[in-house]
Amino acid sequence: MLYESTREKNSILGAMEAIKQGISPEGGLFVPQYIPKVEISDLASLVRADYMERAKFILKLYLSDYSDDDINSSLLAAYNQDSFQSSDIAPIKEMGTSNLHVLELWHGPTAAFKDMALQLLPHLMTKAIRKTNEQNEIVILTATSGDTGKAALEGFKDVEGTRIMVFYPAEGVSEMQKLQMITQEGGNLKVVGVEGNFDDTQSGVKDIFSSHLDKQLTGKGYRLSSANSINWGRLLPQIVYYFSAWLDLLKTGVVTEEQEFNVVVPTGNFGNILAAYYAKEMGLPIGKLICASNDNSILTDFINTGVYDTNRRFYNTTSPSMDILISSNLERLLYELYDRDDKKVLELMQELAASGKYSIDGEALERLQLLMYGGFADMDQAGLAINEGFEKYEYLMDTHTAVGWHVCEEYRKETADDIPTILVSTASPFKFPAYVLGALNIRPDSDDETDHLDILSKVTGVEIPPPLKGLSSKAVLHKAECSIKGMEQELLSFLE
Ligand SMILES: *Cc1c(COP(=O)(O)O)cnc(C)c1O
Repeated sequence: MLYESTREKNSILGAMEAIKQGISPEGGLFVPQYIPKVEISDLASLVRADYMERAKFILKLYLSDYSDDDINSSLLAAYNQDSFQSSDIAPIKEMGTSNLHVLELWHGPTAAFKDMALQLLPHLMTKAIRKTNEQNEIVILTATSGDTGKAALEGFKDVEGTRIMVFYPAEGVSEMQKLQMITQEGGNLKVVGVEGNFDDTQSGVKDIFSSHLDKQLTGKGYRLSSANSINWGRLLPQIVYYFSAWLDLLKTGVVTEEQEFNVVVPTGNFGNILAAYYAKEMGLPIGKLICASNDNSILTDFINTGVYDTNRRFYNTTSPSMDILISSNLERLLYELYDRDDKKVLELMQELAASGKYSIDGEALERLQLLMYGGFADMDQAGLAINEGFEKYEYLMDTHTAVGWHVCEEYRKETADDIPTILVSTASPFKFPAYVLGALNIRPDSDDETDHLDILSKVTGVEIPPPLKGLSSKAVLHKAECSIKGMEQELLSFLE
């Protein structure tokens, strides 16, 4: 399998190079040259297989320049019992009797779904570094809306031949998320808060990638790469859990091989739902892809009207990992909607850069609307969803998953389509304890989020995930903050 850029079809490279580089020099994203098809009959043998076996099957279709050994050892290092609290890796829980199945993707070391990819990516990256005789040290540069940063730090800490630098919006992450990052240990990393929101932070990082700095650093023995979901090595591991979830539903008889199921994804940068799209195109019988947004409902509007307009108010919400107006991975879907027309994608992205908006119509819009349903939940609706989910079904959701649940309910009311549905749960409720307590109408005396963990556990009877216990007693190791303009300087001083 070879890869090409969404903005320059003729720059073609192998999986190792695509993963190592992260983003194409002209700003495009790497995509596989075709989407491999899987026959349902080929999957039969995987019904009884574990997560690792299932992952092996999917990864091999895309990573043709990696040896079987490379893939096996990477998977072993990523999805093991030291890192994941559940032997299923991605377990499915029932929610009431409404044909709704919650896919819990947060049993990894940082209690959010980013671990599913970021436990694996560093191993794929180091193999690529070695096999391609890379002489430079790889510097992972990451912008985070809260969860990617911590997951990338955990994945890359002390990994040979790499360094990692994480920028987070100083006022745009939850207290738990911040605490997780600023207490990060490891000898090859740096964490800095940026004055601005996630979009500013992400743009700052993208600017560094496309600036003169990239070349200058190569001369000094460094090569920049990305752990954001623009990296193909981030997306690929996410395709696996959609297959795995379906195989689990088959195993328990919830669906038959012929039966379709819907998928609901709480969406921000559009990586997670894009992985579901790839799974569907590969042949997994997914019906609708239900795209759930919070108050920053730019994707809802895009799906409903074809207009993508970032000139709108930005909200800081109770689901901060979805507080995004520029969903980078949408570019990969546009590429497919326009039959892989790189000129068209380049044009749309230039429009976005110049005016903050673009629009699609005709066949591309029709295709989009056939694939997806877009909806959103505001903060009150998400809070009510948490409350109802717990009162009615004794299932405790985090604020992001709750957005998905609300949109799913809305979709079902609107369309009467209530086939089996997978609700993707992207974080543990203990990652956002203050908001979750608020939704349950509990007002703790203490302002300290680490106290909220204990209170939440006590009132709900749900256990705190081990990685979140004991955070409050850890030393703060990263106090630096900078302006958007100062990001470049922070990077240079880290590398000196
Ligand atoms: C990152 C994240 C999302 C959004 O996922 P995308 O792939 O960016 O769409 C949703 N929920 C949580 C908890 C996250 O960490």
